[in-house]
Amino acid sequence: MASPFPHDYVPPAPGAGTIDPARAAAARQRIRNLNLLSFAFAIPGIAAQAVGRVMLTTVSEDPQTLDEAGKALAGAGLTLGGAAFLIIGLCFYARMKGRSWAFGLLGFLSCIGLLILAVLGKKCGFCGSDAPRSATECGRCRGPV
Ligand SMILES: [Zn+2]
Repeated sequence: MASPFPHDYVPPAPGAGTIDPARAAAARQRIRNLNLLSFAFAIPGIAAQAVGRVMLTTVSEDPQTLDEAGKALAGAGLTLGGAAFLIIGLCFYARMKGRSWAFGLLGFLSCIGLLILAVLGKKCGFCGSDAPRSATECGRCRGPV
């Protein structure tokens, strides 16, 4: 028997249309805010780390003058502070992807941690399904990811 549907008919995904538009809009706003926060912390963090490391290469391992000791201290402070900012930024980034904030601890690996997190897929906050990292909508429930 022939199908009652035209050939281009696509059945709705399970759970499609069950998400309240207000909740979906709130989730979209939350994802946007987490994205902004992740950039606001991670970018200054990476920059401070880079500057701090360059400063540390200009001083000897055993600083002899007050000026050198100050440079070493400032370089170490920037490197550590930058790492803290990067980790906080990556915690927001992981939450933005629907993942546990603990993924932000990958920031201890600096740029390598950032790369690992960047290729990691997303998780839908509504149904828990996995979604590709570039997806903006859950393939199962159509919720924003
Ligand atoms: Zn979903």
